[in-house]
This record gives sequence, structure tokens and C-alpha cells, in this order.
Amino acid sequence: MTSLTTDVVVIGGGATGTGVLRDLAMRGFSALLLERADLAQGTTGRFHGLLHSGGRYVVSDPESATECAQENEIVRRIHSDAVEETGGLFVVTPNDSEEYADSFLAAAAAARVPAREISVAEALRREPRLHPKMKRAFEVRDAVIDGWRMVWGTVASAQEYGARTLTYHRVTSIHTDQGNISGVSAIDEKTGEKITISCRAVINAGGPWAGKIAALAGAHGVDVVPGRGIMVAMNHRLVNTVINRCVYPADGDILVPDHTVCIIGTTDQHASDPDFLEISTSEVQQMLDAGEAMIPGFRQARAIHVWAGARPLVRDQRVSTSDTRHMSRGMSIIDHHKRDGIAGFFSIAGGKLTTYRLMAKNVVDALCEQLGENRPCRTAEENTPGATPRNHAITDRLAHAESVRQSEQLICECELVTRSMIEQALADQPHANFDDLRRQLRIGMGPCQGTFCAPRLAGIVHAWKTSQLPSHSVQAARNHARDIRDVHSVQALTRCPAPSATHQADVTTTQLRLFARNRESGITPLLFNQQLREAALNRWVMHSTLGIEHLPQPSQEAILATGDLALLYGTHTSAPSLAANANQWKEQHA
Ligand SMILES: Cc1cc2nc3c(=O)[nH]c(=O)nc-3n(C[C@H](O)[C@H](O)[C@H](O)COP(=O)(O)OP(=O)(O)OC[C@H]3O[C@@H](n4cnc5c(N)ncnc54)[C@H](O)[C@@H]3O)c2cc1C
Repeated sequence: MTSLTTDVVVIGGGATGTGVLRDLAMRGFSALLLERADLAQGTTGRFHGLLHSGGRYVVSDPESATECAQENEIVRRIHSDAVEETGGLFVVTPNDSEEYADSFLAAAAAARVPAREISVAEALRREPRLHPKMKRAFEVRDAVIDGWRMVWGTVASAQEYGARTLTYHRVTSIHTDQGNISGVSAIDEKTGEKITISCRAVINAGGPWAGKIAALAGAHGVDVVPGRGIMVAMNHRLVNTVINRCVYPADGDILVPDHTVCIIGTTDQHASDPDFLEISTSEVQQMLDAGEAMIPGFRQARAIHVWAGARPLVRDQRVSTSDTRHMSRGMSIIDHHKRDGIAGFFSIAGGKLTTYRLMAKNVVDALCEQLGENRPCRTAEENTPGATPRNHAITDRLAHAESVRQSEQLICECELVTRSMIEQALADQPHANFDDLRRQLRIGMGPCQGTFCAPRLAGIVHAWKTSQLPSHSVQAARNHARDIRDVHSVQALTRCPAPSATHQADVTTTQLRLFARNRESGITPLLFNQQLREAALNRWVMHSTLGIEHLPQPSQEAILATGDLALLYGTHTSAPSLAANANQWKEQHA
């Protein structure tokens, strides 16, 4: 058992937890973050991608609107590399009443959200696919944010100030001593090893799991209600500006251009468990109809992926438990000293990804006040390490791909990922699995959803990883190569020059199968009409022509080595450790 000591333990590696970690470290606390999966694999990795201008909430929740407007300006500066300055429009479609629009500008002004009306002709000039019969249009300062890049930048900054991060570590208990926080126990999901951390404070940033985490300290009844929302990615960037329907917040009223695709969303339904998020075909149809209302012909584009996330909404006594749409989007900080008599313990939930920095500031302010220490927040003053002089643009990848097109292999045509980009990512993060590479490079996230690039990725990853192994016992590798020689589509896997290449090939093929399975799980609810035929073709290409279904079955060791909860379980992450579940998974997928 490993034992560590720190001032503050942060639980949860989403936008909020990593923001808290950075804030603590910049104020001079020693801080350690525990995350049960990889960074941003909870709601933060499953959101809509919008850096809110505040426009959406000017009528329904003016306080959140003001917070969004202020944080929008800070986030686009300190995370400039993660933000695309698309701008945003609120449009009144032919189906919408103008009553809401009449109050929009006044409400925006009252909430200090910059907004101005532009002519319909100007809106159509900027976005020709918008409904030609739209009635009015307003311009706002919406932008698009890459949540993964934002979180990595936040953690890199925290680490520069001495903070530590332990991923794949699930918190199992929170200890108190005479009413004070004294430590935390966790389990390493990959090895099963136990770890204890002595500390004087704990900040619970567990998102929709925050209620369960608070209960580990004996603070029962923290009512965080998971508000399930689905989003559908379309195979084209149908618009270059964020398009909002100018109505009281409702389902499917925002279209976000995100990298090479665009995303329509979202719904809002009460979910009983954030680890089990269902997606129904009728909800998908509802989203496509909503897209059609803003962009005529929307349904003629191809939907390529659907996923769901759970909003961490704090129960509002004014609305019923199932009415998550009308619960506040504002943040809630719970001081467990006041509520439960546990000094040094705070929970934070609610809010938006856009306001993560402010949420972190407010909870660390509360901790400092309880400790009687004066340490001012500095997170808005300093840019994160990856920040660039200008925001990123959709054309950056194309410019790079063009500049190296004579010398470089293009591995993912949809997202313009080159071979050296993959090799560089592996050099930076040698233990990266396929899903880590997907999040970093967006490989497999474009229109073909990994059909062609995933087997190529497998070959490159395997070649790179075996090239890093010490060279003894070459015979073992050759034997393995013989065993899988007939897998013609992943020939690189048969070139195993190094010793534990046998194990490495096992790990790589396991990851390839899991990657394919994960991509497919996001397609299943979309399967109807032409879409079904295209998906069937993709599946045949990948499983038969490229031979994935002929790959050897994974060993338990290889399943564990992937270490990726989302790949192993999808949105379902069960309570027992990964190690305990590996066998069961193997049986189910044999
Ligand atoms: C459908 C949808 C669309 C959204 N769109 C937007 C948008 O466009 N713009 C915007 O600003 N906001 C948006 N949001 C809101 C935003 O995504 C969330 O507010 C934000 O991501 C929450 O971050 P978090 O860190 O609080 O929670 P999470 O990201 O869920 O992080 C909590 C973490 O705790 C970890 N954890 C749980 N239990 C344990 C344990 N026992 N031990 C260790 N770790 C544990 C989880 O694995 C998880 O990573 C959207 C939300 C949803 C659901």
C-alpha cells in the first residue's frame, strides 16, 4: 500500500476538479487530484463544445448569463489554443414567435452580455445555409472550445506549480478525525493497489457523481441530479458560426461547428445513474428535426455519432426531481463543516464548463476563509502553458497537411492526422492508448469514424511501441508473428522485432477491437434508412475486408493494459475495480 501526504486532495478530473487543482497550486497549496478514469472522461469529455457568451441564459438565468459573459473573455485568453473564435448568432426561425426576441436585447443588456441585432441579409451572408425565411438575427460572442485541450492546459499549469495528478485512481473512502478531514483512500483501477493520502482538506468536484462521493465522508443527502443530454455529430461543418434558436432554452436549439463536424444538441432528461445513459432513436429524430428547423436540408447530411453526458445539476427545491430542464445552471458550493460538521470538506457542482475557473476560485476562496488564510486567486492573470498568440482555426490542420504533403503519410484523411503527429503524441505520452490518441489528435472522429485509419493507427502504434522495447528474446516475437500471419490487413502487427512484442501485439489488437466497438456504439442509435446501409458497409470494411474480426482474442492482461474505462464499458462504469471486471468482459466478448 502506498502512502502520500498533501495539503488538499481534489476528487474528480473534469473541468471543475482540474480548475480547482490549478487554483490551489497557484495559491501555494500542495495539492493532489484523484480521477477514477482519464482526465475529462466524465461530463467534460461529453459536452456540446460551446464557450457560452451568456446569450442562452439572459432571460432564464441572468446570473449565470453574466458569469458566462465574464468567464468567456477570460477563458478565450488563458486557453487561447483550445478556443476557436466562431462567433454566435441567435436566430428567429419561421416557426418561432417574436415575443422572446423582443425581450432578448434588453435582457442581454441587463445581464451585461454583449449582443446586437443584425439584418437577416447579413446573417444569410455569413451563414448561407440558415433558413431563408428567418425573421430576425442577433450577434453574440459565442465561441467553440475543445474541452480536452482546455483540461490538459489547466493540468499542465497546475503541475508547473507542483500539483500532482493520479488518474485511474478511484476514491473509496474519505476519513475524518474528530470532525476534521484527515485523509482519503483510493484504489488503482489498473493494478488493484490501495493508496492512502493524508491531508487537511478535500474538495469534491465529482460532477454528477458528487453526491455519491460526499456520502463516502458520511455527508448524506447531497442531491446532485444527473441531467442527461444527447448530442449528434453531422458529417459536415454545415455552419461556421454557433447557431442558437432565439427561444426560451429548449431541446435541440444549438448547432455548434466543432473541428470538421457540427453538433446538434441537446436534450435534458433526468437520469437515475450517470454511469448508465441511454439514447433512444426518438431523441435522435428529435435532434435531426431541430436541425432542420434552423438549416433546411439538415437531414440530408449524414449523422455520424451520437453520445450522451450528464449535467451535474444541484437539486432545486422549486422544481420536481425529474424536471432537469428548469433546474438552475448556476454553481453550488457546499461547506460540509456548516452542513455536516466536517471541517475541511467542500463539494462543488452545477455551473458550466465555461464557468469552471470561477467555480474553482469560489470554492478555494471558501476553503481559505475556513482555514483563516489570505491567499488571493491568480488563475485569471496567467495564461496556461499551451496558450498561443491567436486562437486556433479550422484551417490550421489543412495548412500543416499541405506543407508536409510531399514528405508525410496522411493516416486519417478526415481529420488530417499525419504519421509524425501520431509518433510525436506517442513520444510525449508513451502509455497512451487508442482513445487517448483519439482525444489528442481527433483521429477516428471524422466522417468515416475510424473505419480506415484505425487499422493504420494499430500498425503505427505497434511499430512505435515495439521499437522502444529492449531487444532480447527475438524468437518469442517471431513466434507471435507466425501465429497472426494471416491477419493481412494489419500486417505491421506481424513485424514484431522485439522481445515482449508478443504482449504488445496482444495489447494493440485489443485496443483496435475496443476502439472499433466504441466508435460503433455511438452509431447504433442512428441506424435507419440510408444511414443503416452506410453503417453496414463501414462495418463490413472494418471487420471483414480489414480483418479485425480475425484478430486473436484479448488476454486479460491486454484488457487491463488498455486501462480505459470508456472503451471497456462505454458510459457504463461499474463499481468493482477494472481488474475484477476484466474477466467478465472477456467472457461477454469472446
Ligand atoms: C449534454 C451536455 C452538454 C453540455 N454542453 C455544454 C456547453 O456546450 N458548454 C458549457 O460550458 N457547458 C456544457 N455542459 C456542462 C458542462 O459539460 C459541465 O458543467 C462540466 O463538464 C462539468 O464538469 P465537472 O468537472 O464538474 O464534472 P465531470 O467532468 O463529470 O468530472 C467529474 C469527474 O469525477 C470522476 N469521479 C467520479 N467518481 C469518482 C471517484 N469515486 N473517484 C475519483 N474520481 C471520480 C469522474 O470520472 C469524472 O471525470 C454540458 C453538459 C451536458 C451534459
